[in-house]
Amino acid sequence: MSASPPILLDVNEHSRGSAGMLYVYPVVSRRAGGISIGINLNPNNACNWRCIYCQVPDLKRGGPPPIDLERMATELDILLQDVLEGDFLESRVADAKMRHLVDVAFSGNGEPTAAAEFPDAVGRVVAVLDAHRLRGMLPLRLITNGSLMDRAGVQRGVRTMAEAGGEVWFKVDGISSDARSRINGTRTPTEAVERRLQCCASLCPTWLQSCFFEFDGKEPATKDIDAYVAWVGARAHILRGVHLYGLARPSMQADAPHLGHLTSKWFDELARRLVAQGLKVQISP
Ligand code: SF4
Repeated sequence: MSASPPILLDVNEHSRGSAGMLYVYPVVSRRAGGISIGINLNPNNACNWRCIYCQVPDLKRGGPPPIDLERMATELDILLQDVLEGDFLESRVADAKMRHLVDVAFSGNGEPTAAAEFPDAVGRVVAVLDAHRLRGMLPLRLITNGSLMDRAGVQRGVRTMAEAGGEVWFKVDGISSDARSRINGTRTPTEAVERRLQCCASLCPTWLQSCFFEFDGKEPATKDIDAYVAWVGARAHILRGVHLYGLARPSMQADAPHLGHLTSKWFDELARRLVAQGLKVQISP
């Protein structure tokens, strides 16, 4: 029996299993502009939210199983070794312009902070970065929906990220409870989003990340975008900036047929309004 050929990575290949590992996966990241090493603490495809644009296949409600931290750290060590000293970049990355490491990111098939081991996982990842002399050289990111930021353990993990020069990308796709219910499948009150964002930003440099798209051929409602600009603008002083992004890859959820891409012009106009409020903005339409 012959081994399967390795998957050649491009911006459309985000399979968490592309390196044959359980917790660690390399992706070509359009948003970050190179190779991102992802840490997936949700190998069971379970999340406490249900975003209509979510690209996770077979997404279910729930939390992660117990995480084998030893295995996670070993996988990260092996992949970093291959990227830094092996032929990983040349043999696996299709686009030569993307053949450089841009970050290590907790970004899983669910909410990473839902793992009870999250704070210890951050510590183990930082230790591996230290072993490769990458602490402070390679950005460490947490991609989160922010919903569990009230937990002491999550705060401990986020604090450790800050100590290692890391940053948080905190998801806010809508300001009203109605918008969050429609888009993210959560009834989180706005006061809770506010409290958690304030907490996160006080512990670690924090960017907002917001996904926008058409629904049934219609752009987001003007009242929702006005509310977004006003709310985010009023919090410019606690944020590093805002990442605006569109549908990079197809949604794997039931609402997928309703979703469509917004134009670059639409994103540019939203960015212009946020920049006018003193915010740094990055766009991946
Ligand atoms: S928070 Fe992330 S993983 Fe969870 S449903 Fe939304 S997009 Fe998917």
